[in-house]
Amino acid sequence: MTLAIVHARASLGLEAPEVLIEVHLSNGLPGLTLVGLPEAAVKESRERVRSALLNAGFEFPSRRITLNLAPADLPKEGGRFDLPIALGILMASGQVPVEAAERLEVVGELALDGSLRPVTGVLPTALSARRAGRSLIVPMENADEAALAEGEVFAAGHILDVVSHLLGRERLPAHQIGAPPRARMSAPDMADVKGQHQARRALEVAAAGGHNLLFAGPPGTGKTMLASWLAGILPPLTREESLDVAAVRSVCGLSIMERWAQRPFRNPHHTSSSVALVGGGSKPRPGEISLAHHGVLFLDELPEFDRHVLEVLREPLESAQILISRANHQRRFPARFQLVAAMNPCPCGHLGDPRQRCHCSPSQIQRYQSRLSGPLLDRIDLQVEVPALPATQLTDQTPGESSADVRARVLAARERQRARGWLNAHLPGPQLEAACALSPQAREWFAGVLDRLNLSARAYHRLLRVALTLADLAAEPRVGKAQLMEAVGYRQLDRMLNANDPSRL
Ligand SMILES: [Zn+2]
Repeated sequence: MTLAIVHARASLGLEAPEVLIEVHLSNGLPGLTLVGLPEAAVKESRERVRSALLNAGFEFPSRRITLNLAPADLPKEGGRFDLPIALGILMASGQVPVEAAERLEVVGELALDGSLRPVTGVLPTALSARRAGRSLIVPMENADEAALAEGEVFAAGHILDVVSHLLGRERLPAHQIGAPPRARMSAPDMADVKGQHQARRALEVAAAGGHNLLFAGPPGTGKTMLASWLAGILPPLTREESLDVAAVRSVCGLSIMERWAQRPFRNPHHTSSSVALVGGGSKPRPGEISLAHHGVLFLDELPEFDRHVLEVLREPLESAQILISRANHQRRFPARFQLVAAMNPCPCGHLGDPRQRCHCSPSQIQRYQSRLSGPLLDRIDLQVEVPALPATQLTDQTPGESSADVRARVLAARERQRARGWLNAHLPGPQLEAACALSPQAREWFAGVLDRLNLSARAYHRLLRVALTLADLAAEPRVGKAQLMEAVGYRQLDRMLNANDPSRL
């Protein structure tokens, strides 16, 4: 037999489309030709495969070798094709029977001595292999990750082990994860800190309804710590969600097992580029928003972020995904994250701080605050002031409520939303109005409040969304005045900004 076919998979965003490695030996000048849109790292695999085969004691055919990676129009990156190419050459040259790899998929990079090196993006590959009904051979270091997909996985440390397996001499055992990874709570606990009652309440509301949240307050009031609590009061990840989170980490080459089933909490610095934040690059990779998928994206010092960077956030905030177009392919990365942002009220940070005087001029303050565009703020349902703690609260000895207690209420409120099919933060307008079921009196009262507070018509639905979450937390069947009043309290920054810049209305 001079023609062999091995099943492999490319890594394209979070997808792992099938790639057939076709190897043909023919008479002619010895040499190896690689066709089918291979990128530089794949072209280099020629040299790695040759050395690995020779060093492992195999014969490298001194004939003309044509290697085709099909389909040709699919971009192929990285060293993941080394092992399937090497096996294809062994089959085409009769050193391994061609039937041996029929129900198999193979992925792995070769070292020059024939040992196997781990590759990125193994989880999406393993999920696709399982759906195709094939077993998967991976390098040892990728074995646990591949086994999360719950298909049949064989792990090998060296190409000799793979060949022994295919020849039936010494079968590789099907890989089992030692102990199933369990979710560990790594988020700090709310019981550790006293005071900040309004911020605590806002976190609970954000967790219950899936709302985005902004904390505004002077430096040193613990805004970062408050934000980090959110991951600990959100519901546990489902298995599907855990796999989604792990798949993003997998293609980024980040460790999966130690963070398995944990809500992501990402905290990119305000100097981050838009590529780092939303993803991209010449070989598109996920950004922070995708690493925060199903979790929390925390942007500290929000006005310090580049204006352009903040503008590119708007699309994923709306669509829960990001599309990155390249000449030959489009990648789609998931990005259903909850945004928590923090900001100082002014450049020096002490506007409204009783401990220290603010030295900023009104125009400085306005310039600072206007760095946040109205459309971005529109997507943040909860805006809360975090004041400097008065001394009485610092000496208060009553312990704060634990994250577990808060989470129990969050879960109950989410259960009520399940019947509507949407989290309140995403509930479409007509369903929102129906779910709130405002009485005529409440409606009239609310219209008067909006008018008096100079709140825009756009703010109306955001207020209703938050009020509905408050009703869900209180197990109320409809939204009443109490919930509307509390919801209005979470629009502090809107009012402040609108007062400075009437064009926002
Ligand atoms: Zn200031």
